[in-house]
This record gives sequence, structure tokens and C-alpha cells, in this order.
Amino acid sequence: MPELAEVEVARQNLARWWQDKAATEVHILDARLLVATDPEALVETLQHPLTTMRRRGKYLIAEFTNDHAIVFHFRMTGKIVLSPIESARFARLAWHIPETGWLIFKDQRRFAHLQLFAPNTLKDYAPLAKMGPEPHDLTPEILGQRLAKPRLLKAALLDQATVAGIGNIAISEVFWRTKIAPDANTSDLTDAQIEALATDLPAYFDEVIEKSMADEIIYLEERSAENIFEVYARENDPCPRCTTPIVRTRIAARSTFYCPHCQAI
Ligand SMILES: [Zn+2]
Repeated sequence: MPELAEVEVARQNLARWWQDKAATEVHILDARLLVATDPEALVETLQHPLTTMRRRGKYLIAEFTNDHAIVFHFRMTGKIVLSPIESARFARLAWHIPETGWLIFKDQRRFAHLQLFAPNTLKDYAPLAKMGPEPHDLTPEILGQRLAKPRLLKAALLDQATVAGIGNIAISEVFWRTKIAPDANTSDLTDAQIEALATDLPAYFDEVIEKSMADEIIYLEERSAENIFEVYARENDPCPRCTTPIVRTRIAARSTFYCPHCQAI
């Protein structure tokens, strides 16, 4: 499942493949991908050159010379790949970029979506309007303010209004790095732990971006995926720090992996 790092890798790939170019051919293969979007208007916008490819949290935002924007949200299994159109499985949208090839929006589970925005309407899009700061913009003061309300820390961080882009994998990994108990409450955090989180969240994402950089990211749920994480999906493996077997549990309704020695509850 893509989190900030995987979406950032997609942003860099798409900028490289698509910047300043317009699609010459567009195929909408599954209209369920489109939310509140007229298919003809989508095709029309894709036929304009891309001016900017941005990321905000787990959303990608493509901006065009006609001042329209397309927001891509990958959810569980969505991804955009450069692929021959004939061989792309689970293709929902395909657009051809000259000198690049076919860009294919694939989505096996069909939770992903995209939405077209007319000029000056993107600012009212609720998921972006209420989104918290990017991890790279955090300071201990900002994070401390955002975690001021007593709440399960994991639930607070999964809430994109607290900090943008954090997902379930990042939480297991960063709690392990900072030795925070998996069921910690925001009110349990010391100043040193808040400082560690403000530093380790962006550092963690930088490392995952570097390790994941490829034309196509294989999400951990996919069969051919390699597990690049220290504790996530490593139940019973030795803790890389102290060799205690990693425990799997469920917190905030999501799988959680932790070291019972390093992260004493
Ligand atoms: Zn340990």
C-alpha cells in the first residue's frame, strides 16, 4: 500500500516521463477510476502539456497549461507505470506521451481514483484542504502542537489531518526506531520522544524513497515484493537491535509490529 515515499517515487518518475509534454492518445479503460469527472473533459486536459507534477501527502497532483489539475490517489494497489499498452494488467487509464511511451494507471483492487479540477477549484478539495504538514516541514514544536490532544498516538498519526503521508508501515517502523510503545498515547510522549519523531519521520521517508527508487514500485502486498523494512511484516524475526522476536498485534484496527523488549508496553 503506497505511503508518502512510494507516491514521491511515482512523482519523480512521472515528472521525468511527462514534464512539458501532452498526451497524443488517451484510453479510459475503466470509468470507475474517475470521481466527479467528465471523461471528455479529462481527455481534453490530458491533451495539454503537463506543467507541474506535485505531491501532497499520499496524493499526486498534475497541473496543465489549461490551468486544470488532475489529482491521483492510489489507495491500496494503484500505481502509474510506463508499459506497453498490450501487456498492462489491471489497466484503468492509458495515455501516450511522445518520446516516452504509454503511461498506464493500473489498479488491481479498484480503490484508486482520480479527479479533474477546473481552474481555482483544487483549493476547496477537502482531503487536501484539511491535510496536516508534510513530515519534512515538522519541527518538535509543530508536532507537539498537533499531538496536544490526548489520543492513541497511532490513530493520531494515521489521521492525515495530523501529519500528511504517514501510513501503517511508517508507524511500525518509526515507533521501533524511536523505541515508542505501539499503544502509546499522545499524552505519554516525552519532549525527547516528540523531538525524535519530528526527526525520524522525514529521515525514515528519505530512506524508503532511496531504497524504493525504480520505474515501478512493487508494494509489499504483491507476490514479488521484497521486504525492505526492519520490523513491518516480520513477525517472529529477530529484532535488528536486540534479537527479541518481533510481535504482531492489532492497534487502531491495523496490523502493528514491534519489539516487546525495545518498545516495552
Ligand atoms: Zn528489540
